[in-house]
Amino acid sequence: MIPPIASRFVAGETAPEALEHAREANERGLGVILNLLGEHYHERGPADEDAATYCELIDDIADAGLRACVSVKPSQLGLDVGEDVFRENLASVVERADEHDEFVWIDMEDHTTTDATLDAFEHHARETGGSVGICVQANLRRTREDLERLADLPGKVRLVKGAYDPPAEVAYREKSRVNREYRDLLAFMFREFDDGVAVGSHDPGMIDLAADLHGEYGTPYEVQMLMGVREDAQVDLADDCEVWQYAPYGSKWLSYFYRRVLERKENLTFALRAVVSG
Ligand code: FAD
Repeated sequence: MIPPIASRFVAGETAPEALEHAREANERGLGVILNLLGEHYHERGPADEDAATYCELIDDIADAGLRACVSVKPSQLGLDVGEDVFRENLASVVERADEHDEFVWIDMEDHTTTDATLDAFEHHARETGGSVGICVQANLRRTREDLERLADLPGKVRLVKGAYDPPAEVAYREKSRVNREYRDLLAFMFREFDDGVAVGSHDPGMIDLAADLHGEYGTPYEVQMLMGVREDAQVDLADDCEVWQYAPYGSKWLSYFYRRVLERKENLTFALRAVVSG
């Protein structure tokens, strides 16, 4: 069982727990993006297994009538084993989602995977007419050009600042520069994207900017935030715009929990307080 200290950030170890979390979040006005924790498989077996688990989860979401969808990681579906393995597993997940009119997000991993991820997205975006979404990272220098390509495709795009640590040849490394880029790219997306914009950020400045850009261009948008981060703000925001909470679950929760705790002082303080108070 996941200890209470980690359950702020992780929606349980099993699908029934994750679905129950989604049901409660739906009651608070939030859509939920479920992510089965797992990445960087070097053998086909676990990649196939996770793809099959996503297919079952998609059936369960439909049966339960939840406002939920899934987000997959390319290396979880076998990209490190081979692009063909990733493509096959992604196709099975997208086809199953399509049967239920559900949506599939594709997370973006480190910069060496961007081309393969974009290509797979493009294929499914065209094939499904837009029930897939992709994440792009504002810290990568190439993202401006990638967004020009994505603007002509159906499907949704989530803009994030970038969680990886790419080298300076391919990325902006200063936080202020990444923030500037994020603002510019967000403005581009509101101008050019008809299918809507997904703002993947907890940053109040970026969320206010999105509201202003929506006022200016009328482009539909949604805000996406991680489970356990600014939860009150998520619920408050849901009065004004669509809000989706990204909720990871699964047995591999420990390293994800450490990442969340180490990335911010507030999260570390929360974890220490929970330990001290038992
Ligand atoms: P930051 O620059 O980290 O923070 C800016 C401001 O936001 C802070 O000053 C504070 O006011 C507020 N804030 C941030 N965190 C907290 C907190 N814990 N408590 C209170 N206030 C806070 N990255 C990828 O590379 N690939 C992906 O596929 C991907 N998917 C994502 C999906 C979602 C839904 C989200 C939310 C993020 C995703 N990320 C992904 C991570 C992303 O790249 C960033 O690393 C992460 O979101 C931190 O950046 P930020 O925009 O939230 O703002």
